[in-house]
Amino acid sequence: MASIFTRIIQGEIPSFKIAEDENFYAFLDINPNAPGHTLCVPKKEVDKILDLDQDTYAGLMAFARKVGLALEAAIACERVGISVIGLEVPHVHIHLIPLRSMADATFSSKVALSPAEFEEIAQKIRAKLR
Ligand code: AMP
Repeated sequence: MASIFTRIIQGEIPSFKIAEDENFYAFLDINPNAPGHTLCVPKKEVDKILDLDQDTYAGLMAFARKVGLALEAAIACERVGISVIGLEVPHVHIHLIPLRSMADATFSSKVALSPAEFEEIAQKIRAKLR
């Protein structure tokens, strides 16, 4: 069965999209640690990041860097943290998290946002993409 992220990429499940190219897709995490928390996903469905082929791994990092720079420019934060967990969704994804404190990196403090707030944040990040 297709992963939830494949279904998002295919447009079957809605997402607050940030960026997309031939091989990768970025969208806002629906249960964010902090406003702007973004996931970068390869379209190729692989469970664990270290199992990606070299080109996809390097391509994902380059894509996440581009999205992360836009995120850092759009959302007030000390820096953008990068995490890979994957215990919930078995489809490789990089978490990009605007950090103001260590708590934002812990996945235990979450923020609730309305759909309008998610869309406003997504628009701000998209506007900073280069
Ligand atoms: P993990 O697999 O532990 O790295 O966590 C998976 C992440 O995916 C969590 O932060 C979830 O909030 C996020 N997530 C799960 N379903 C969705 C969805 N439909 N849209 C956006 N983010 C999601």
